[in-house]
Amino acid sequence: MGSDIPTDFDTLAVRAGQVRGHEGEHAEAIYPTSSFAFSSAAEAAARFSGAAPGNVYSRFTNPTVRTFQDRLAALEGGEACVATASGMAAILSTCMALLQQGDHVVCSRSVFGSTVNLFDRYLKRFGVAVDFVSQVDPSVWSAAIRPNTRLLFAETPSNPLTELADIPALAELAHAHGALLAVDNCFCTPALQRPLALGADLVIHSATKYLDGQGRCLGGAVVGDAERVGKDVFGFLRTAGPSMSPFNAWVFLKGLETLRLRMRAHCESAQRVAEWLQAHPQVERVHYPGLSTHPQHALARQQQDGYGGIVSFEVCGGQEAAWRVVDATRLISITANLGDAKTTITHPATTTHGRITARQRAEAGIRDGLLRVSVGLESVEDIMTDLARGLG
Ligand SMILES: *Cc1c(COP(=O)(O)O)cnc(C)c1O
Repeated sequence: MGSDIPTDFDTLAVRAGQVRGHEGEHAEAIYPTSSFAFSSAAEAAARFSGAAPGNVYSRFTNPTVRTFQDRLAALEGGEACVATASGMAAILSTCMALLQQGDHVVCSRSVFGSTVNLFDRYLKRFGVAVDFVSQVDPSVWSAAIRPNTRLLFAETPSNPLTELADIPALAELAHAHGALLAVDNCFCTPALQRPLALGADLVIHSATKYLDGQGRCLGGAVVGDAERVGKDVFGFLRTAGPSMSPFNAWVFLKGLETLRLRMRAHCESAQRVAEWLQAHPQVERVHYPGLSTHPQHALARQQQDGYGGIVSFEVCGGQEAAWRVVDATRLISITANLGDAKTTITHPATTTHGRITARQRAEAGIRDGLLRVSVGLESVEDIMTDLARGLG
């Protein structure tokens, strides 16, 4: 973008990254092409060697994907962004690019289940050690650091209990030991939280969630500096190929244009649902950073511009009572996806956290009466009416 174009978030979300083509198209074009043609053998050679800039093959670069990358980088305040086929591909690409045998990772134990499996089941096989620690206490992260620790990995707020990590504290800790801090910013998006400005080195996204916002496409992204992301993560991507499709990039671009408006609406409705649940006699406890009773409410106020769209709550009566709430819904979708215009509900103990042992669940705070709701954009009155049906 030219220096004459404003740099306000709302403007960047709508305008950043677009290069209008010779047809004068107003909306961003989709380029569904696997390769790009050259005008001569010399030009082909120059593009392949990197001596001349330009597209070669869509596993490396694609104009629609580049537009999405540039726009997300602008919103996160990063120098570079690499788009990937899914959120998990973004985490895998980051690890493959930046870690090697003998390295050690400290990871929050409250991260997404597949992230735990990626570290614990797969990266361990290649000689990368990992320790999982409580998200909420920087002193346990500090105690877990070893001389070979290269990466701290957090996801804040966490799923489903909305536990926060103190990003500036973890960044300081990482940098004091020559390590990097990566933050999975899926729940907040850059509309509510910009981890790089708080000191993190890398931001991870599952674009599948709020960046799309309507549950259509899988995608992911890594944002950070030009060296680690623009060179190292990009180098892995172009070699190994977990690349984003141009069509999906276009859907995410359109999602970014309405991201802040949607996140505001998600936050507003989630706050109302959380407050209503907290006053309900059949509800034991509500987990939402926007409630003054949330143990990290003050930290959420400090490092976030809003409290997000995810509310978890524990109903009186355990699994049976929780399932009754799920089964009584007529509007809300029973599905594990989140960050959608459609409100969704899940019972973590028997779905997303169903494959771990009862003891591991207890340690993670996933009780039998716990339900997670991703509050959508329907009328908030209708959402509450639907939840009230099964609460008796
Ligand atoms: C869904 C999710 C992921 C994984 O993203 P995919 O696009 O499904 O691969 C990673 N982190 C968080 C917090 C998620 O919610």
